[in-house]
Amino acid sequence: MEKKHFETNAIRAQLERSENNEHSVPVYLTSSFVFDTAEDMRAAFNEETDAHIYSRYTNPNNSEFVNKVCLLEGAEAGVAMASGMAAIYTTFMALLKSGDHVVSCSSVFGATHALFTKYFPKLNISHSYFNIKNPNDIEKLIKPETRFIYLETPTNPAIELIDLEFVAAVAKKHKVLLIVDNCFASPYLQQPIKWGADLVVHSATKYMDGQGRVLGGVVVGKADLIKEIYLYGRLTGPSLSPFNAWVLSKSLETLALRMERHCENALYVAEALEKNAALENVSYPFLKSHPHHHIAKKQMKLGGGIITITVKGGYEAAKKFLDKLQMIKISPNLGDARSIATHPASSTHCKLSEEERLSVGITPGLIRISIGLENKEDILNDIQQALK
Ligand SMILES: *Cc1c(COP(=O)(O)O)cnc(C)c1O
Repeated sequence: MEKKHFETNAIRAQLERSENNEHSVPVYLTSSFVFDTAEDMRAAFNEETDAHIYSRYTNPNNSEFVNKVCLLEGAEAGVAMASGMAAIYTTFMALLKSGDHVVSCSSVFGATHALFTKYFPKLNISHSYFNIKNPNDIEKLIKPETRFIYLETPTNPAIELIDLEFVAAVAKKHKVLLIVDNCFASPYLQQPIKWGADLVVHSATKYMDGQGRVLGGVVVGKADLIKEIYLYGRLTGPSLSPFNAWVLSKSLETLALRMERHCENALYVAEALEKNAALENVSYPFLKSHPHHHIAKKQMKLGGGIITITVKGGYEAAKKFLDKLQMIKISPNLGDARSIATHPASSTHCKLSEEERLSVGITPGLIRISIGLENKEDILNDIQQALK
């Protein structure tokens, strides 16, 4: 497809219609595909054609979703997986070998953190963490065995940012890869490949679906790396189901619209809450008070859909606040049309030590709010009444 704008690609980069002339792409619920000749099948297995073989490998719905994400992220190639963690784990396993080393920001998603600290040592893969606040530390942590730098920006849940162009230059200088988990921003707000990232991973469960229905994951980037990840994935089977791929591909049609509204609502709520005396802090990348506001303005189109607030009175006050919310639900998810509140210290990050939590900005009073698509006054009113 010729180069078109983000919104157009998200809607129009769909499969060719079949002989039935359907307007909306059907779901291809088929585990395998047939070949006209034995030679066709041989060629497909030997990667001489890109014919679909078996849905653990590829499937039309899967390919449509991946193709769209590649266009939206400006990537050469991609692979879809059953969840964000499947995409992350498969990427790691395809690229790493015993003896390798990884440099990662310490404030990574909880499950990714557990891979580095609990499971990778068993495989003789080591890691060094840098604090996202100190980008100059990255270079000092790189060793001859370092395979890649891994990071999230904005981080979960503390909403801290790092300059992608700066980290990409460090990676390039030391000939290591840069892998970015772009889940919080979505490709609509930030395209790490444009700044020099080699691979971008997503939990499609969040903003890509955007309606809290399906799990999904995707990794996109340099074609040679994607090939390795694809081959590992097709052997080990963390494949995205055709139905979920269909849902996600449909969801991408509205990603731009939804992100615009998530961001408008989040900025409105964050600005209003900055004046609330019951709060110690309000953090949102597009607030002028945010310490990384300049980075946000440089690499993000808008500030995103997540804000954090810090209530005065620690865990007890945080619990009281959550229990008093009427419309906003307590749940670990984010990126949904419905606003969601989470207390990271007691839930998503409960496995970290108190010291580890504090070092990545997770205080007992910190609450993450994924601002949904409800009316912004209703969202704000619910938060304000719960703070009273
Ligand atoms: C949710 C999330 C993941 C994991 O995705 P799943 O789809 O739940 O497996 C990874 N990274 C970030 C930043 C996330 O928010």
